[in-house]
Amino acid sequence: MHAPTAKLGPNVLDLSLEDFRRLIAQQRAAVKSYLLDQSRIAGIGNAYIHDILFMARIHPLRRLESLAPAEVDGLHQAIQDGLRPSMAKNGAFYEKDIYGQKGGFGMDEILIGYRENQPCPRCQTPIIKIKTGSTSSFICPSCQALPSTV
Ligand SMILES: [Zn+2]
Repeated sequence: MHAPTAKLGPNVLDLSLEDFRRLIAQQRAAVKSYLLDQSRIAGIGNAYIHDILFMARIHPLRRLESLAPAEVDGLHQAIQDGLRPSMAKNGAFYEKDIYGQKGGFGMDEILIGYRENQPCPRCQTPIIKIKTGSTSSFICPSCQALPSTV
């Protein structure tokens, strides 16, 4: 069901660190699927999720309930850092605003998303594409290691 009136979660950019901590603390879900679920938390699109998790150094399959407090704080910061450059440029190159104007946020501003086999900008390890549920994710296997206790 995608009715236009479908309930959206709070816009992620409106959430203070305190709000974000509180919201996350009550959830049990994989980090990536939670952040992309617009009914829980709105505003994070597919183009940005890879870089956001990379900046926060969190593997997409990590569970919210496994995140250390410092990781939650880092994730909140990475969301702000990951979304604001695009907002400032009116969205991504493939998105259109209500006037049909394309956004100015281009591929060259994406850090690791869609950059399979290119060196990680932080440690030079080649970026890999992995299957995460029904979607694919781009990660640096070194910066975003998946701990054995997820
Ligand atoms: Zn890396």
